[in-house]
Amino acid sequence: MEKVRLSLIVPCYNEQETLPVFYQETKKVLGEMDCDYEFIFVDDGSSDGTLSILQKFSAEDPHVFYLSFSRNFGKEAAMYAGFSNASGAYVTVMDADMQDPPSLLPQMLEILRGGEYDSVATCRSTRRGEPKIRSWAAKRFYQLINKISDADIVDGARDFRLMKREMADVIVSMGEHNRFSKGIYGWIGFRTYWLPYDNVERVAGETKWSFWKLFRYAVNGIINFSQVPLSIASWFGISMTACSFFFLLVIIVRKLLFGDPVAGWASTICVIIFIGGIQLFCLGIMGQYIAKTYMETKGRPHYIIAQSNKKDVKKIK
Ligand code: UDP
Ligand code: MG
Repeated sequence: MEKVRLSLIVPCYNEQETLPVFYQETKKVLGEMDCDYEFIFVDDGSSDGTLSILQKFSAEDPHVFYLSFSRNFGKEAAMYAGFSNASGAYVTVMDADMQDPPSLLPQMLEILRGGEYDSVATCRSTRRGEPKIRSWAAKRFYQLINKISDADIVDGARDFRLMKREMADVIVSMGEHNRFSKGIYGWIGFRTYWLPYDNVERVAGETKWSFWKLFRYAVNGIINFSQVPLSIASWFGISMTACSFFFLLVIIVRKLLFGDPVAGWASTICVIIFIGGIQLFCLGIMGQYIAKTYMETKGRPHYIIAQSNKKDVKKIK
């Protein structure tokens, strides 16, 4: 019987310190598993020795493919390039820093082979070793996005997930430019098994995500998967109309009872500034959506591959 093929997509951005550890450990685990496999390392425009390490791996090991971007396009683009070029019956995405433990792979494959599930997703059972403020903000984000969008996103979910070919094909077919994988996974559905594990810290190097980068990523996630912010303007409009109507009544009654003393210059200015602020805020929200629409309509490629050892590589998509 022919062995099934497992594709491991590994986005790498300046990972020269972690790559050798990752490669060795993962290869060891794969060697003990009963399957064929391929590594698809995506060098996301690294400026360190990442590419030369990948070239070395691929020269010695026919299981290794690398795709090297012409510049840094971000992890989402790297994952998309991986999905577009993966050929396995099972596909998974793994970080190069060992935060997605390869030791989970046999168990994940076992679950999929059982036939009851289409994907096995991992989530962190704790956020140990992470700054408090980051954990707090992440929790609020998941609460919010689950309330206002129809993408079902689990708190602590990682991008590390093993899935069947069918699901990978759907992900490739979703060619949106503003990508947010956690949302895409949740949105497309399929039967998913959740596998919790203890948070592992990166073996070497540093995280590429600053708090603000994560914040922007979260805002993008919300805009990509929900139209609720767009209706904020309408709600403000309705409630302010109601308020102003009430105050109109108050002014009329006051005029009838007490005459019309000239007062309220400061309060007038406050109201003008307040309403002006709300209008700009709502305009800003609309601007965000328009900007996204603009980028989508341009239809630029998600990534550009400058170098690869894969013969039938899709260089631009
Ligand atoms: N990564 C990438 N492009 C980027 C940033 C990160 O391909 O622009 C990769 C990085 O090499 C790693 C994975 O995405 O394999 C996760 O990055 P990191 O460990 O910095 O994020 P964290 O685990 O802290 O969320
Ligand atoms: Mg990491």
